[in-house]
Amino acid sequence: AFALVQAGKRYGRLQALEQVSLAFAAGTTTALIGSSGSGKSTVLRLLLGLEWPDHGHVEVDGRPLQRSDVLPLRRRVGYVIQDGGLFPHLTALGNLALLPRHLGWNRERIRQRAEQLAALTHLPTGVLERYPAELSGGQRQRVALMRALMADPDALLLDEPLGALDPVVRHELQDELKQIFDQLGKTVIVVTHDLAEAAWFAERLVLLRQGAVLQDGTFRDLRERPADAFVNRFVAAQR
Ligand code: ATP
Ligand code: MG
Repeated sequence: AFALVQAGKRYGRLQALEQVSLAFAAGTTTALIGSSGSGKSTVLRLLLGLEWPDHGHVEVDGRPLQRSDVLPLRRRVGYVIQDGGLFPHLTALGNLALLPRHLGWNRERIRQRAEQLAALTHLPTGVLERYPAELSGGQRQRVALMRALMADPDALLLDEPLGALDPVVRHELQDELKQIFDQLGKTVIVVTHDLAEAAWFAERLVLLRQGAVLQDGTFRDLRERPADAFVNRFVAAQR
């Protein structure tokens, strides 16, 4: 497996994640779904070493994740946080250059890679010189995705990558993202609260509720063999 979360997490008195056991196979796409507050982001944050479990452990590449692994991991795992997380004082290109500069890439190499990814995500290259506030929501999401892809990571962890987009742009980007996942063949974990979107992206859906895994299976499993009445309602509500 690329990664394993066998852990529980509380924030103060709130049990955000019960002891879950989730393995993510290398080269596969998994969608984490569930209502707001169900623990989706927490799973990603544990995998990235942005949070640490209270009990249990997290493994990446078959080794328990340790604090000293966190920085090297940033290079190998592309991450799009909820709401994109672009730095407002940097242009799109400046945002894209952050990690590559750390890695010692020169300007030419950074620009070439940025242009290559702009083509992949259908972003006009002129947009690279603009600041996040001068971009549309869809363009910002594309830049956030490009930033995650810059250093050719082994895995992509995307937290609501299509967050607050209008339905048309959302649909467009869903198509593009799916193509990118299929083309790149990376390990992808994508968080969304939208069941149809999850099913479009991933064969495997993991439905969380109040920090517990309610069901782990295909869309068809959820629809035809719901684990309980909640899954049933969740599926029915989103049709
Ligand atoms: P959403 O769809 O709204 O993003 P989520 O499924 O990603 O929700 P999490 O962010 O994982 O949910 O949060 C799980 C629970 O933990 C929620 O009840 C949330 O309020 C709580 N929580 C998350 N982060 C913190 C924090 N830093 N401090 C305290 N509580 C937190
Ligand atoms: Mg979240």
